[in-house]
Amino acid sequence: MRITGVETVRVDLPPRRAHRMSFDREGRLGRYVIVRLLTDEGTQGLGEATVLPMWGGDHMRYFGELPGTTVHIIKEYLLPGITGQDPFDIEVIHTIMDRTVKGYPYAKAAIDIALYDIMGKALGVPVYRLLGGCNRAEVPLAHSLGIMDTQTAVNEAVAAVDEGIRTIKVKVGIDAEQDVTMVRELRKALSDEIEITVDANQGYPSPKVAIQAIRQMCEYGISMAEQPVEGLDAMAEVRAAVPCLVMADESAWTSQDILEIQKKGAADAFSLYTTKPGGLFKAKKVAAVAEATGILCNVNGSAETGVGTAANLHLVASTGIVTLASVFPVTTLKGKEQTKVAGVFYLDDIIRQPFHYENGSLRVPDGPGLGVELDDDRLAEYRTD
Ligand SMILES: [Mg+2]
Repeated sequence: MRITGVETVRVDLPPRRAHRMSFDREGRLGRYVIVRLLTDEGTQGLGEATVLPMWGGDHMRYFGELPGTTVHIIKEYLLPGITGQDPFDIEVIHTIMDRTVKGYPYAKAAIDIALYDIMGKALGVPVYRLLGGCNRAEVPLAHSLGIMDTQTAVNEAVAAVDEGIRTIKVKVGIDAEQDVTMVRELRKALSDEIEITVDANQGYPSPKVAIQAIRQMCEYGISMAEQPVEGLDAMAEVRAAVPCLVMADESAWTSQDILEIQKKGAADAFSLYTTKPGGLFKAKKVAAVAEATGILCNVNGSAETGVGTAANLHLVASTGIVTLASVFPVTTLKGKEQTKVAGVFYLDDIIRQPFHYENGSLRVPDGPGLGVELDDDRLAEYRTD
């Protein structure tokens, strides 16, 4: 089988609400590039780049992609290099992509996901079987609260818990005092069995500010503080001074980052993505390095469509060290909603069948490849190019 071409479609999904974070005060999620990778045998693979302009690594070490740049990189740089390659030669293809253009992990991840979809379809097996099998078929979700006023957040958290969610993740990092109030009120409204975590997205201005806020939040039983500050030295300072787990997200994209985190003692846990390292193949390498260092792990995303979420579910299913709850959307199809609030980032999707949601968990799809089909009508409705 040979790769013969690629189609890209730019898609915007309608958001349920803004998802404000310390690095993006407007909180506009829901811009995607969907990739259809073509082969000479007619098998097509789906992939996705979940592009966020303001999402990046510490001190702009890694940085955001835009739908336009992603399409440009895929069509003008990546495709010419990989045309004619066998989709099963995945390390060969990654080497070609990395020799063609440095960086752009989201564009490369879209190709990588499509390659796995092709391989799975060609063999008639789900992608998780190509990645190590199914360690867990149900993936527990954390519901993510963007930055919002306290009462709205409490109402949303209670509604999400009523719909089965067991972990509430709160975006913080703009106003430390307000963040402590938010956590206090959430703890009052939620039972002790509900886990509360916070994510500052590097937002606190110094380790001291972060330490003071997190220590107070720990009195209300937060279990984890994600990326409180920017940079590994600052992260290590916070980690040494707070009782809860500290998780690296923006600081942790590659295997080399995991080794640096270990060297500096900068985090207890990290957030593995399909996209940050440049696709499933590389994410498995990051997971292997992480496993050797003993760091805890979840898989998170950036509110992917059903295509990217499928890739994320296969990554969780196949990776033993992933034990912490994931922030993935509960697939919402207009007219077939599974939840009203829990995990609802946007009001519709572009796949035909939702991933089954029950008891706070999403079920890993088990059809061939990613196990998803595009809904052409919905794709036409939400495409922007
Ligand atoms: Mg995060």
